[in-house]
Order: sequence, then structure tokens, then C-alpha cells
Amino acid sequence: MCPAVMTTLGACGECTDCGLLQRLPEIDAVALITCARCGATLRQARRWSVVLSGLCAGLGLVLFALALLFPLASVWMSGGRFATSDLWMGPEHLRAQGAWVLALAVFATLLVLPAFKLTVVLAMSIGVCVGATPRWLKVGFTFVPLASEWAMLDVFLLGAMIALFRLEAWMLVTFGPALFALGGAALCSIGVDAAFDEAAFWERVKRRPHVSAQGTDAGVIGCRHCGLVARGDEGERCARCERALIRRKPDSVQRTWALVGAATLLAIPANVLPVMTIVKLGRGGPSTILGGTVELAQAGLWGLATIVFVASILVPVVKLTGLSVLLVTTQRRSSLRLTLRTRLYRLIALIGRWSMVDVFATMMLVTLARFGWLGRVLPDAGASAFCAVVVLTMFASESFEPRLMWDAAGMNRKPLALSSEVMAQ
Ligand SMILES: [Zn+2]
Ligand SMILES: [Zn+2]
Repeated sequence: MCPAVMTTLGACGECTDCGLLQRLPEIDAVALITCARCGATLRQARRWSVVLSGLCAGLGLVLFALALLFPLASVWMSGGRFATSDLWMGPEHLRAQGAWVLALAVFATLLVLPAFKLTVVLAMSIGVCVGATPRWLKVGFTFVPLASEWAMLDVFLLGAMIALFRLEAWMLVTFGPALFALGGAALCSIGVDAAFDEAAFWERVKRRPHVSAQGTDAGVIGCRHCGLVARGDEGERCARCERALIRRKPDSVQRTWALVGAATLLAIPANVLPVMTIVKLGRGGPSTILGGTVELAQAGLWGLATIVFVASILVPVVKLTGLSVLLVTTQRRSSLRLTLRTRLYRLIALIGRWSMVDVFATMMLVTLARFGWLGRVLPDAGASAFCAVVVLTMFASESFEPRLMWDAAGMNRKPLALSSEVMAQ
């Protein structure tokens, strides 16, 4: 059979949460399109998205570059002892103390991924405006939602604030210019998210003529990276973003179980072992996550204690329990409360990154409090274990395929062909 050019099905979309193929309404008539079955946001149209996202990303990059040049904060102790910290020193100090996992996680989430996100959004804005979107740029752009989740300027700022409040109790703390520049960059990054309408970018990307090996017999497949719904088959390249088409994340259940299992095992040392050793005037010793929370509460810092408790203890427990429930119900092919379970998945994916707040707080404490017996903070093994738990649970929620819940319940019986009923919707 002669291969036929891939037919695209213009106003159709596949819900990435439940797998329903559906006809999309005209975007001019409605700004928010939600899935007819599970309520997931299929598209949130935003005016001037390409230009505004590009501007926010450009400004964010400038502020981020400034933040790299100046100190974040400085502390003074009696006798004129002085210490300062900048963005580079944090990961470097952690590495020097042997906390490799922490150093690597901080380096990636605080330096590499925010810079990647802002650069790619800016480049893609310029690219679609001038009509030049090379393959590397399109592929890079498909990673923006993932990089957004892992770029943690906002989480770092909260962690830094917690650390500086803690240090204020025994040192004189001054905020450096980089903290304000980073605050600005974080706001710009949030601005990018607020103005971001991925589909508005993709609509302006030229499609290359795509030849489906299956010809017109090919089923309908929605590209998970750019949302294009077209005739094609798994493994073929999407006509728009040029990434390989896949129907479902491969080995999702097994991979997610493995990651949940590893995170659960590591949660034991993370909570039992001390996360840091705090020495004040020759006194003090190792403290655990729970111990640190109690210490904050005893010092009257109830707000901070609550934040640390929720981010470091409650969120990981909710994530691990929630993912286990989703996995078990999927394996049992349960059709019970599918919409609620899909919402639970969205919640799990949303909250995970905030658990990193304690990792960033530890980094700031380690970098600034280095006055020997007078005042010193050292990272302990528990911190690395905790960081690994956070990273593994984030990987786990990323590797889980929510559409499998609907597949398993028999709700996506016609995965290979866009049924006439759906087309008629
Ligand atoms: Zn849906
Ligand atoms: Zn695509």
C-alpha cells in the first residue's frame, strides 16, 4: 500500500488525563476548554501569549543573570565574623560537605532548569514571530512544561526565607541584591506560566509534510507533546513537534511502582536520620526533620513550622499514599470515581515540588552558618535521603499515566479510531 500523507484532524484534541478524543469548540467563542469527561483543562487561551511569555522570559533571564553576579545574603556574628552566600556557593558548599545528592538537585533545580525554561520560551517566542522554528527548538519547547515543574525559583525563595528567619535568631542577617533579583526572576517565571498558552505557540509552527507508514488505515493518535491529533501510528514522528508519537507512557505502572517503592524505603532514613547538625556556641547537635519542625514551633515561629511540616512530612505522605491508591485501583481495573482519581493525580503532580523547600533551607543554612563552634550548620545523611525521596516521588508522578485508569476501566475502548460519535460531538 502506498503511504499516505498524515491527515490532521483540525479541531480535535485528546485529553492527556483521561484519553478522550473530542472535538474542540472555536477558541474565539470560549477562552477555557475543558475535557467533556474528566474536566481537565485542554486549553486555556490567553491573549498575546507568545509576545507576553517571551517578554516575561527575557526580563526573567536578565534578572536571573544579575542574581548570579551578586550575593544572596550576608550574616555577621560577634567579633566581626562575616559570611556571605551567592547562588554558586550553595551547591559548591554542599558538594564540599559530601552531600552530592543535595548539591546536584539544587544545581539542577535552581540554576540549570530555570535558565533552560526562560531561554527556550524566549527563543520559541522569537522563533514563531519570525517564522523560524528549527527542530531542536521545537523539541526543546516540548520540554518546557516539564522544566516548569522542576525549575524551582519560587520554592527556593521560600526555603531561603525560612533559613534566614532561623538565622536571625542568632546572627545579624542582611538580604543581598541577588535575593531581590531572584525574586524578580521568580515573578517573571510565574508571569511566563500565567501568559503561557502552549497551543498558541504550536498553531504558529509550520507542519512538515508527514508520511504515515500505515497510510489511511492508520488510527488516530494525539501527540502528547504538542497536542496535534492526526492519523498516524506509534513511533512515527509528529508532523508538528517532530517528536515520536506514543499513545501511553511505556511501562507506566511498573515504573511508577518501582519509584514509589524506592521513595518509601528512603523515607525511613529521611525521617529517622538527622538532616543537619546545628552548633551554637559549642552546643547543639544533629536534628531530624520532625525535630527541626518542633524547634521552629518552640521558637514561636508557628507559620514556618507549619510550612516545613506540610512540605516535608505531609506532602510526601500524601503523594506516596495517593500514588499507591491510583496504582492499585488501575491494576484492579476499577471504574470507581474515575474523575475524582484523576483530580487526585493532578493534585499530586501539582504539590510535589514544594517539598524541596526544606532542601533549599538546608543549603542556605549550610552556606551561611560556617563559624566553627560559634555557629555552624552541616548537612547530614538524612537530608540526602529526604532529597532523594522528593525527587523520586516527582519522577513517580511524572511516570504515572492517568489515561491508564480510564483504559483499564474500559472507557477508551476505541483507541485506534476516532469514532463517529466523538466526531459528531
Ligand atoms: Zn479528560
Ligand atoms: Zn507533536
